[in-house]
Amino acid sequence: MRKYVAVDVGGTKIAVGIGEESGGFLGTSVLSTDTAWSQDKVLDHIAETVNQLVSETGVERGQLMRLGLGSPGPLDGPRLLETSNLHSWMGLNWETGLASRLNLPVSVQNDATAAGLGEWLYGAGRGTENCIYVTVSTGIGAGIVASGRLYAGSRGNAGEFGHIVMDPSGPECPAGHKGCLESMASGTAIRRQGQAKQPQSAYLTRLEAVETKDVFDGYEAGDAVCRAIIEEAADRLGLGLSYLIDLFNPEKIILGGGVATHAPATYRERVWNAATLWSLKTMAAVVELVPAQLGGDSGLKGALAVAVTAHRE
Ligand SMILES: [Zn+2]
Repeated sequence: MRKYVAVDVGGTKIAVGIGEESGGFLGTSVLSTDTAWSQDKVLDHIAETVNQLVSETGVERGQLMRLGLGSPGPLDGPRLLETSNLHSWMGLNWETGLASRLNLPVSVQNDATAAGLGEWLYGAGRGTENCIYVTVSTGIGAGIVASGRLYAGSRGNAGEFGHIVMDPSGPECPAGHKGCLESMASGTAIRRQGQAKQPQSAYLTRLEAVETKDVFDGYEAGDAVCRAIIEEAADRLGLGLSYLIDLFNPEKIILGGGVATHAPATYRERVWNAATLWSLKTMAAVVELVPAQLGGDSGLKGALAVAVTAHRE
């Protein structure tokens, strides 16, 4: 039976697994990383971990079809361009580096795209031909499946949904432009708003430091300032989703990521209401807005889905 290697690269750890097309894993392992590691060192450590898992699980080398990897973006094809956490690895080419060490074909996608493929194959998007996964965490990203296959764009960067500009006079984002969705509706944006408006909020003013979760807690407790922050973020996100609905006419929009997953149901309802209000009625009538299903498994299952879908093509 065919086996696949899945590698999920994060800021502080790298998860590695050997899995099957069905989505199940025979073995997994987590590697704590140090961004001071050289590029060769990180590639060597991943290869060592894969080899160790191969021997532990008793998989034969000939059964391994492909390695799929999900990486923080942005990427230029399989190469890391720049990230907030991984400066020393800039320029690292995952594909050539791992293919030569493991003698396996390698496919690379950014983490949001990988998680989207994971939800499509193994989670909330199963059975659809057109679905879009949207992740809301510290940033905002998307993975697009159109006409039954991944839509990756010319350099693999399609789905940079968080950087769609909603208001050119809005706050600046780390990518250097103003008023993008991420600068208004991400966890980072919610925290920043909470910090700025802390003195006016009866709920937040009692706290020493304001985190994203505190603003949600204040919102649930009925604090007017927190409510305004969360409702505006939800409305902006919903407006953004309406663009995706009108552009792609998807069957499902899957909402995931740490912020969206842990937010109260009223937040998600507000997002859904805005998305359907501002998209064309014919499109809104056929799209279902659903929560992501894979949760903490989304990274590794996404990387597995990258390998499985690339092998099918
Ligand atoms: Zn931006």
